[in-house]
This record gives sequence, structure tokens and C-alpha cells, in this order.
Amino acid sequence: MTLLNVQNLTTYYQIRRGFVRAVEDVSFSLERGEAMGLAGESGCGKTTVALSLLKILPPNGKIVRGKILLNDLDVVKLSESELREKIRWKAISLIFQGAMNAMNPMYKVEDQIVEAIRLHEKGVTKKEAKDRVAKLFEMVGLEPERAKGYPHEFSGGMRQRAMIAMALACNPSILIADEPSTALDVIVQAQVLKLLDELKRKLNLAIIMISHDLSIISETCDKLAIMYAGRIVEVGDVLSVFKKPLHPYTQGLIAAFPSIYAPKQEMSAIPGSPPNLLNPPKGCRFAPRCNYSMDICLKESPSLIEADKNHFVACHLVHK
Ligand code: SF4
Repeated sequence: MTLLNVQNLTTYYQIRRGFVRAVEDVSFSLERGEAMGLAGESGCGKTTVALSLLKILPPNGKIVRGKILLNDLDVVKLSESELREKIRWKAISLIFQGAMNAMNPMYKVEDQIVEAIRLHEKGVTKKEAKDRVAKLFEMVGLEPERAKGYPHEFSGGMRQRAMIAMALACNPSILIADEPSTALDVIVQAQVLKLLDELKRKLNLAIIMISHDLSIISETCDKLAIMYAGRIVEVGDVLSVFKKPLHPYTQGLIAAFPSIYAPKQEMSAIPGSPPNLLNPPKGCRFAPRCNYSMDICLKESPSLIEADKNHFVACHLVHK
């Protein structure tokens, strides 16, 4: 059953020189218990999608059109108080990049989670919230007693586990993990990703995993959406996209990823750089970097169409 249905989400940032078209016409859906990876180069709009889903954009950011349908609600239309009551933490929760930045170093971890629970759920006593923190800590593989410590007393991996506990405190159905393991060494990274996978199964949690690391997405997600210059250019089942990438940008991204099993070879890179989103190209935004660019690519922006079962791509090559 579809849990989240995002339709033509378009988010701009206003700056002195105009509007940065950070996210344009992004559409995808997510089912309960499904994990979707959102990948692409830095600045392609991944984090803006996440911030838009919770409507926590910076003051110069605005959703200019589109729908974010969650159960019977359109998140775009909700007021601040409705978002606090119904969406943030309770329906959709977010783990930020760099767990240390998300925790206040002045307060004990337990107090921070207790405060978050009581802020979002009226009528929960301090004792009930503390009991819940203990259970959450157990669930993420931490000794409940450790909750009484300060963030600086936690190792990087423990802090990320505590952040996950905090994000799950109000029992959300969707967890957004924005580069959840970037600052961790590979062993701790693997443990955190395993934990997220276990929680997904145990709680039937839907996860949006934002990462530039395709290996993380291939290991943890059911579905993969590739973003380029504010748009989704390809989306489909992880295996289908990895086995048969259809968009030239996806092909370039996958080719740029080293494999320890492949013979030693020079790493390939996608030439050029992404367009300036203040004034993006009229047609396909990837055209200036694409080896297959045709006349139509410079004039018309390709729409996302189903090229294979559950595999959508926005490219005129596939539309022909
Ligand atoms: Fe390349 Fe054209 Fe496809 Fe864009 S639409 S990726 S320019 S072939």
C-alpha cells in the first residue's frame, strides 16, 4: 500500500540574483516497509527533497508547487501547528548528516530525547518518556544506562545510534536518513546500516536513504532514484537500475564507482559539472555533459516514463 506519494514537488530558494531551482517536478512513491535510495552529486537537490517533505526549509526556501500526499493529508498545505501535531517526528522523522551537530552538547542525551517526546506528544509524563528512551536505546543496541551521558561521551557510532533512537521516539512510519554514515569508519558504518535494515523489517518502517555512495544504497535499499540538477532522471528497483541503467548520467555514475572484483583500470569520471540552477538549460539539464545529446535534448525536457517494469527514466534516447 502506498504510504507516501510525492507529485511534481518543486522547491526554489530565493537569493539576490533570482531563484535557485533546487528541486523541480520530483515525483516518487514509497510503500510501508520499503527503503528508497536517493542518489546524485552534491547539490543535486537530495537534501532539499528531505527538507521539503518535513517543510523545514531555510527561510529563503519555498515549495512552489506539487503535492506530498501522506495518508489522507497533503503536507504542502498543512500549517506549522498541523505539521508539528501530525507530521514531524510522528509520521516522518529525519536523521541528519553528522550526529554530533544534531545533539546539544550541553544536555544529557536522555533529556534531549525526553524533551522531544514530550514536545510532540502531549500528556506523556517525564517517567513514561524516560522509560521509552530506555526501550529505544535497547532497540538500537545501546545500554539504556548510557542515555544519562552527554553527547561528547559517546563514540561516533554510539551517537549515530542515539540519533536513530531519537528519530524513532514518536514512532514515525517514514525515516529519512541523510548521509547517515558519512562521518563513520567503514566498520561502524556497516553496523549502523545493518541496524537501519533490522529496524526497517522489525517496525515495517519506510526509509529514504540519501547518499552519494551507491554501494550503501545497493546494500540497503529496495528502490533507487537518481537525481541530477534538481530532477529525478531515473527511478526503479535497485537491481533493475544497477543491472541496466538507462539514463546516461546513471550509467556514468555506476561506471565511476570502483569495483574490487573488476580488473584494475583507470577510474572513469563524468566530464563537466552540473548546471547553474539559477538559470538551468532549457531542455535536458544533462545535455551539456551527455555524449548522446541530440537536437531535441536542447529544446525539450524529457519526462519520466516507464521504460521497463517498475523502472522509469527521463531521457529522449529511451523515448524514441
Ligand atoms: Fe542525453 Fe538527451 Fe538523454 Fe539528456 S535526454 S540524457 S541529453 S540523450
